[in-house]
Amino acid sequence: MSLIWLIPVLLFPKKAKIISGVIGLVLWSSSLITLGYFCIYKQEFSQSVLFIIFESNTAESSEFIAQYFKWWMLLVFAGHTFIAFSLWKRIEPIELSTKYAVIFSLLIFTFSIGLPTYKDFVIKDKSWPDSMDKLQLRMEPAEPWQLVMGYIQYRKQLANMNALLEQNDSLPPLSGLKQKNGDLPSTLLLVIGESTNRNHMSLYGYNRETSPNLKKIKGELAVFKKVVSPRPYTIEALEQVLTFADQENPDLVMTKPSLMNMMKQAGYKTYWITNQQTLTKRNTMLTTFSKQMDIQKYMNNSRAQNSREYDENVFGPLEEALKDIAKHKFIVIHLLGTHMKYDYRYPPEFEKFKDAKDLPSHFTEMQISTINSYDNAVLYNDFVVNKLLTMIKDKNERSLMVYFSDHGEDVYDTPPHDMLGRNEGKPTAAMYTVPFIVWQSEKWQASRRLDLSKFLNRPYSTSHFIHTWADLVGLDFSEFDASKSIVNESFKEKPLLVGDPKVKGQLRELKQ
Ligand SMILES: [Zn+2]
Repeated sequence: MSLIWLIPVLLFPKKAKIISGVIGLVLWSSSLITLGYFCIYKQEFSQSVLFIIFESNTAESSEFIAQYFKWWMLLVFAGHTFIAFSLWKRIEPIELSTKYAVIFSLLIFTFSIGLPTYKDFVIKDKSWPDSMDKLQLRMEPAEPWQLVMGYIQYRKQLANMNALLEQNDSLPPLSGLKQKNGDLPSTLLLVIGESTNRNHMSLYGYNRETSPNLKKIKGELAVFKKVVSPRPYTIEALEQVLTFADQENPDLVMTKPSLMNMMKQAGYKTYWITNQQTLTKRNTMLTTFSKQMDIQKYMNNSRAQNSREYDENVFGPLEEALKDIAKHKFIVIHLLGTHMKYDYRYPPEFEKFKDAKDLPSHFTEMQISTINSYDNAVLYNDFVVNKLLTMIKDKNERSLMVYFSDHGEDVYDTPPHDMLGRNEGKPTAAMYTVPFIVWQSEKWQASRRLDLSKFLNRPYSTSHFIHTWADLVGLDFSEFDASKSIVNESFKEKPLLVGDPKVKGQLRELKQ
């Protein structure tokens, strides 16, 4: 992509100095921003950064610069500028016949833009907008496209999100919504994990000690043993988990109020704290959900999902939220959990599993290393979830916490042990089996005794979670369906449907 800038210099060799100077100035000034960002965060610039910058007010931005600007960054900028400038000073016209200049220019254009676009649009038969999206994606890492594409993507996803929010605003509220336990104060914490298969947690019987913290307090937890997710992908799963939509009624996502709407309607002050990316094309729906809340804290600015970002990012914002004096608080925490790339999910001190110990002998060296990384990520996730629980427990309030993972993950778990990750087209149980844990504080139990121990073996899909949540926190309304709440006496076992509901004939029982 950067080679493209050679084309004008090749075609107009006599003006090489001035052309390269002008192009250089543009690239240099945009690179200063992304270089500065890299100095602070050790990360590439992205549309998520722009989203966060435009979301926070200017006072915060100047505080931000004061806090992060370090004197050595001036040296980095000076070095960066000096190298570019001294290269430019040495530029001389390229001695090339016009014929070769044109041929080289065409070659550069063909290989950077022409061929990839032809491949997407003609050979792979993608739509024109999709082909252009792909092209933008390839351009993004190069200057000055990081800024330009970041901004274009930001505007585009923002427009999509605002349209979704407008639609959500126009929905009629839930009818007859009331709090069953009167007006008692309550702090509710909903922790949504990521890509964690419960069968890799020692809390659920895994033979490696991957959840020592939660196991220690097992007696305080209701650990549900047969909960599954409806879809193996974050957005698709959470669209059902956080709304009235389910596998049989996928369209209710946008036509009925969400769980977030419900909590606001019930008078809660609502918080959304996330360590997931925000305004990427994939995550627009999630960001829309977050915007249905009162306060948002976006802790992840990465351009790529596969970048290093630890979940301890959320501790600070949670501490702040817990200090809020609002009588009714509802806090959603969205973790990166054990999402690929597993190595990037935990700090070095959590690298506990390093060899083939406690693993069956059929795994290859490569597989063992991947499983070890995953188990280390599960171990770190145990630390994070336990820490969140400790934070809310220490407040000694009337509080409740629910933790589950959005979906599972197959880390060579299913025979013949060659599947890594998730694939809805070739589903395995490991992609759907999730941890599901409820914790209730002493004060909570004193005012609302809920004996969950008899419900732990119920087969349940998180697609009906909104009913369980309403039941747990004591909300009633006409749309509430007790048969879909895992903690209700009137619960009815339903088929655990998996597959894409929009593809005809793909829905099936997980057991199959
Ligand atoms: Zn996910």
